[in-house]
Amino acid sequence: MTLADPTVTRVDVVALPTYYPRRVGRNARLGSHGTGGESRVAVISTDTRHTGWGLVEGPGGDVADVVGHPLSDLVDPAGGTRHERHLWLDIALHDLLGVVQDLPVHALLGGRGDRSVEVYDGAIYLDDLDPDDLDPDDLDPDDAPRGPQVVLENCRSDAAAGYTGFKLKIGRGHRWMDRAAGDARDVEITRRVREAWPDAKILVDANDGYDLDGFCRYLDAVADVGLYWVEEPFPDDPGDLAALRRHRDVVSPATRIAEGETAPDVEALLPVAERHDIDVLLMDVVSFGITRWRRLVPRLADAGVEASPHAWGRPLKTLYAAHMAAGLGGMPIVEGVPGRTDGVDASGYVFVDGHLTVPDRPGFGLPLPRP
Ligand SMILES: [Mg+2]
Repeated sequence: MTLADPTVTRVDVVALPTYYPRRVGRNARLGSHGTGGESRVAVISTDTRHTGWGLVEGPGGDVADVVGHPLSDLVDPAGGTRHERHLWLDIALHDLLGVVQDLPVHALLGGRGDRSVEVYDGAIYLDDLDPDDLDPDDLDPDDAPRGPQVVLENCRSDAAAGYTGFKLKIGRGHRWMDRAAGDARDVEITRRVREAWPDAKILVDANDGYDLDGFCRYLDAVADVGLYWVEEPFPDDPGDLAALRRHRDVVSPATRIAEGETAPDVEALLPVAERHDIDVLLMDVVSFGITRWRRLVPRLADAGVEASPHAWGRPLKTLYAAHMAAGLGGMPIVEGVPGRTDGVDASGYVFVDGHLTVPDRPGFGLPLPRP
C-alpha cells in the first residue's frame, strides 16, 4: 500500500477570537494579560482534499515557498518539519500528516506517554493587584485592588472547571509592590492556596522577578507547602541555579526547578540541566515547536531531565502540549490555558479531575475551524 502524498495547494492564515474565562492580570514583569485576544492559525489545503491546521506565532513565513510541494518534501514522519524555513507551520504540518496517515499526532510522535495527561492551571496571575473594573473610561473612586481573596476565587473557579493543580504567579515585589510587602504577599498567597487545597499540586512562577537570595528566602518561608515546582525564579545564571539547587536540596528537596521558557540558547541550558540544577525544561509549544522537541526529548531522557512545553496564552497550545506528552513521554504534567477559541470544536478532548485525555482521531483530532 502506498500512502497518499498530497501536494499543498494553498495556505490560509486566519485569526480566531479567543476567550479566557476572566480577564487575566499581571505577572512579575508584564501588565494585564487581557481577555484572550486572537489565535492565528494556518490552514493547509491539498490536492487530495486533505487539510491540516494549527496555531502560528511570530512573523510567519512565505506561503509561496510551501504551495506546490508534496507533503513528503515538507515533513518527515520520523522527524517532523524538514526545513527550518517551514517551522512556522510545524503544528499544521503535524496535523496534516496525521490526517493523511490516519494517525493521531500522539501516535505519530511515538505513543510513549499516557493518553491521559495531567494538566495544571496556568491562569492564576497577580489579579489581587487590580480592581474589578479596569475600564479607563469608567473610573470609579471605589475601584481598589481586590486583594488576595480574588486569587483564591480564581483557583476555586478553575477547580470547578476540572483543575486540581495551580501555578501561582509570584514576584509582586519586582515591579508592582514594595519589595518586602510584595514578597510577603507572595508567601501569604502561596500558604493560603495550600490551606484551601491540601492535596493540590502547587507550582509557582516568578517570571524572573527575584534574585537568588530573595528567592531562597521565599523558599524558606514556604518550605512546608511542598511546592511541585518553582519556575523562572531569577534570570538564568548557571551559578545561581546551582546555588538554588543546593538550597532546595536542603529545605524543599521534592520541589523541581523549571527553566527555559524564554531561553535564547537551549544548548547553553542543557549542561545545567544535565547537572540537575534544572529539573524541567519549558521551551514553548509553538515557538520552539514539536520538531525541535522531538529531537530534544531523547537527549533529556538520557540525562534524566523532564520537560513541560510552555503553553500560555492560547488554549490550543495546551491541546498540542498534551499530544506531545502522550507521544514523546518525559512530560509528566503540562500547562493548562483555560478558555475557548472561536470556531474550534475541542469536544474530542475530555478534561476530568486534572487530566486531559487526547482523542484517538487523526491529527490533533480538531475539525477545521469554522470562522
Ligand atoms: Mg512562565
